[in-house]
Amino acid sequence: MNSPELKQAAPGVSPLIDPFGRRINYIRVSVTDRCDFRCVYCMAENMAFLPKRDLLTLEELDRICSAFVARGTRKIRITGGEPLVRRNIMGLFQALSRHLKAGALEELTLTTNGSQLEKYAAELAACGVRRINVSLDSRDREKFKAITRRGDLDQVLAGIDAAQNAGMKIKINMVALKGVNDDEIVPAIAWAHEHGMDLTLIEVMPMGEIGAERIDQYLPLTQVRADIARHFTLRDIPLRTGGPARYVELAETGGKVGFITPLTHNFCESCNRVRITCTGTLYMCLGQEDSADLRAPLRAAANDDLLDAAIENAIARKPKGHDFVIDRAHSRPALARHMSVTGG
Ligand code: SAM
Ligand code: SF4
Repeated sequence: MNSPELKQAAPGVSPLIDPFGRRINYIRVSVTDRCDFRCVYCMAENMAFLPKRDLLTLEELDRICSAFVARGTRKIRITGGEPLVRRNIMGLFQALSRHLKAGALEELTLTTNGSQLEKYAAELAACGVRRINVSLDSRDREKFKAITRRGDLDQVLAGIDAAQNAGMKIKINMVALKGVNDDEIVPAIAWAHEHGMDLTLIEVMPMGEIGAERIDQYLPLTQVRADIARHFTLRDIPLRTGGPARYVELAETGGKVGFITPLTHNFCESCNRVRITCTGTLYMCLGQEDSADLRAPLRAAANDDLLDAAIENAIARKPKGHDFVIDRAHSRPALARHMSVTGG
């Protein structure tokens, strides 16, 4: 099933449809694997980043995105690593905004840790970015520092203010961490809703070697949901974004809470997305290793024929789904790559 939120491809556009009949109209593009934070569940303390020369240029990223838009992509999410630490990143947003203006693209958005948001909020809004996801796992200064290893909570909160003042709608992403922020979840929901923001809870996913035991971090959201239900009246709502989130509305606040539960719930049947890394690798599924190189066809010719063929071949291999598992027998990462490589 496809996202009801995204319109079908424009007339004359030959859409990308995978072997299971799913229309691929949403791409997530990681523009850098680097980040100014080192969140404990995402990265090791001493991460080895890609040499800068391996990265696609912003012009090349624009070409790939535009090739997808030409094949019916209606939504682009820029992510990372931290997308706003990539040099001249506003150049990419400005370039991609032409597809919004032309009506080919419905939504241009980003996921950010918020550290640079104060600086860029107005420019992002001017590029047509209307809704953004900001990751915030704790509003306790010390805990925030401990989780991110180097983040400054006040800077992120100032970024959120700036984005709201620029007219953007914010959704908070919060990774549920056992024994770390479990006690903050209910207050975070109340705070977010009070400030007109929805909040999505995320289960820790087994991606990348991070030097910590996943089983120690893993907090099943079924448990969290039961806890939230002790404080609020939850109503399931049929909102589907084609992604892993399931939503409830709280009667007391009118705000929404999303649950991303790859470990306790299978969400693949409505998947409408693929992911592209900053080196031009296309991952057809967040939870599988199979990938396609788009950099070679991109660089082999000035026109996009080879690129388009490579995209089409890759979509024809999109797998049905994934099977992440975390338990005592599976405390090693299911996938060697970090979330910061493929983007959240
Ligand atoms: N740096 C940006 C940020 O933090 O929002 C964008 C990239 S980050 C990889 C995207 C999302 O993935 C964030 O909300 C982050 O909390 C989440 N994330 C990272 N590693 C994860 C993991 N192992 N399990 C679940 N969520 C994870
Ligand atoms: Fe950076 Fe985002 Fe990963 Fe945290 S979750 S280390 S902010 S990429």
